[in-house]
This record gives sequence, structure tokens and C-alpha cells, in this order.
Amino acid sequence: MTLTNGRSYLAIPGPSVIPDRVLRAMHRAAPNIYTGELVDMVPGIVEDLKEIAGTRHHCAIYVANGHGAWEAAASNVLNAGDRVLLLATGTFAHGWGEMVQRLGVKLEVLDFGIHDPIDPKAVTRALNADKDHRIKAVMATHVDTATSIKNDIPALRLAINEANHPALLMVDCIASLACDRFEMDKWGVDLMVAACQKGLMTPPGMAFVFFNDKADRVRENCTGTSWYWDWRSRVEPEIFYQYFGGTAPTHHLYGLREALDMISEERLEQVWKRHEALASAYWAAFEVWGQLGPLKLNVKDPRWRSNAVTAASIGVQNGTRLREWMVGNTGVTLGIGLGMSSPEDPDADGFFRIGHMGHVNTHMVLGVIGAIETGLCALDIPHGKGALDAAVAAIAAG
Ligand SMILES: *Cc1c(COP(=O)(O)O)cnc(C)c1O
Repeated sequence: MTLTNGRSYLAIPGPSVIPDRVLRAMHRAAPNIYTGELVDMVPGIVEDLKEIAGTRHHCAIYVANGHGAWEAAASNVLNAGDRVLLLATGTFAHGWGEMVQRLGVKLEVLDFGIHDPIDPKAVTRALNADKDHRIKAVMATHVDTATSIKNDIPALRLAINEANHPALLMVDCIASLACDRFEMDKWGVDLMVAACQKGLMTPPGMAFVFFNDKADRVRENCTGTSWYWDWRSRVEPEIFYQYFGGTAPTHHLYGLREALDMISEERLEQVWKRHEALASAYWAAFEVWGQLGPLKLNVKDPRWRSNAVTAASIGVQNGTRLREWMVGNTGVTLGIGLGMSSPEDPDADGFFRIGHMGHVNTHMVLGVIGAIETGLCALDIPHGKGALDAAVAAIAAG
């Protein structure tokens, strides 16, 4: 017998669930890329993206995934030989760091491990020690999708100001944009990268670099920016193709337009609140499961947990066993552990992650919690009883 037939649910932290509305918007004949509807539609998309990012400055679009946005950002503000301070709270920060290193940039790394957020005092200390202001940028993830740690970006800005240091603040919001509250201008972020396949509910393939005038002035002194990554022509195109450095990602744009409409119909504040409520249902369930047995949230303090993704440990082998059981019996696919390997658990089999970003609602979250509980019972993994009740109560409390 199989119980998996029915609507499947990819509950991994990206790509996220694609709304039917977005899929329908993409199902159309190829549009003209020289004139007409598509061409008229793009300036509005840029404006709406800026609104979601909380910036009145600039947004460059790339036909790329998140890694492309990382490289685009670095290529515009960093030269080979420059120095950056990388603040790591998981795999994704390290990934961005390795990428800029390959571009010849010198990395100074403050690693805060896989359970705790960035310590702003350590950042001020590191910048105070940089008397000649050789550090050109501070790079951090808002949410690190591997650990599900959410960093306090306003506190990070204060830490940089405290040291009176001119470094650019560059933030990766690929996991968090339109899930966790983020306000670029208000928070003093100079450059932010995002992609379309997480909170923005569109299939992978478009990435965004938001930047302010301070970052653009740094761009002026960057000598190595390639034609393709250069953000200038993308934010001030003279001809339509310059928005994308070539052919527009036609169907992605229709999908994104629809997703942005969905966000504006719901209103961004409410989108953030929905993510918060649904995340709190997961946390309530994990708290109860963890009262007995091996299940543990990766981030202890709720202040530092993302509303977009949850990483948990469940004892060596059990993470993989649970994920496989879920696929085979429930139609739910959970995310693998990333960057959690240790000598006892080289393949991170004791970890899993749940994506709750974008197009998610009460029944999806309660369905996953119920399905996990079923898996824990079927696999004889000890756990506290009453998780679903706790999750229900968390949502009912509003
Ligand atoms: C998903 C993600 C990335 C990588 O994006 P890709 O589209 O896979 O290249 C980078 N950073 C964060 C925080 C992410 O969540």
C-alpha cells in the first residue's frame, strides 16, 4: 500500500512551492521581446522588487540563481586584492566567501558556528583593529539556510557605525526576502542579494542585486567588472535587452509579475506575519517532540530563528531515515542537513530541514507536522507527545 498519491509537497528550503497562479501566468506563447506587454511590464517589476526589499535605490536583475547574484554583487564592488570581513553563521556565508576568494579577494572570517548569530561586538572589535580601513566590505547572510540562523542586521549596522568604519554592508537575503522582515534602507544595508525561487515563489532562474548610491560609488572604482555582471546598464538601460544583458527571461518575468501581485494583494506586512505564525507552529511542535528523545531545533533562542526555514537534529541516521520514510509514505519531501557534518556523522544523517517560505499556509504546516509525527511513530524514534496540539494552539492563539 502507498499513501503518497495525492498532491505532493516539496517542503525543502528552496526551491519553494510554486503557486498555481504563477504556473498559469507562465503558461503562454513566447512574447515579443522588442515591444508590447513584456517590455511595458518590466519597470513595474523593478519598482515592486524595490518595495519588497525596502529600498528606494537600485535593483539589477540577472538571469541567474543565487550564486549568480553573489558573483554579480562581488564583481561590482570588489577588486582582486581587496579585503572583506565575512561573518559566517553557516554554509551559505562560507559559500559566498569562497566565491569572492576565487575572484582574488582576501577574506577575513569571523565564524560564529552553526548555532549562534553574529556577535556585533566581535564585528566592532574586528573593524576597530582595521586602523587603515583596508576592509572594503562586511558580508553576512540575513538568514543562513543551512543552520536557519537569522542575524540581527540593524545591530550589525550599529556595530559597523560604532567602529566608524566605511566598509560596505553586503547582505544575502536569498532565503529571507518576503519571509522574514527586512528593510534595506532603514537598516542601513548598502547591498543586498536575493533570488526568485524562495520567498518570491517563482521557479529558479532570476536573481537580484539591490544597491544604494554608496555601493554605486564603490562600483566607480572597480576596474575588473565584466560586461555581463556590470549593474550599470541593467539599472539604466537605454534599450530593453540591457535590463538582462541579453534576451529577457520571458516566462520567468510573467511568473514573477504574478507572484509580486500575490504579495501586494496580501500586503508585505501580512506576508511576514503569516510566516511568523506558521514558523511558531513548527517551533511549538519541536519543543514538545524534544521533551523526550533526540529531536532538537538547531537554534535555541527563538529570537535568532528564521521564519522561512527550520533546521533540526534528530540523532545520527534518523534524519535520513525520517526523510526517506516521509517521501515513501506521506508525499512530503523534507530538506537534507547542510554543513552539519561531524566526524561521527560525516553525511549529516542526523539532521533535516523544513522550508516554510513563500506559498505556505496552515494546512500545509499542520500536515507536515502530522506527517513527521507519523514518521517518528513508524520509525520508533522517541519523542514527546502532543506536538500537533501545541502547533494548533500556537496558530489558534493568532
Ligand atoms: C538558496 C540560497 C543561496 C543559493 O542560491 P542558489 O539559487 O542555489 O544559487 C545562497 N544563499 C542563501 C542564504 C540561500 O538560501
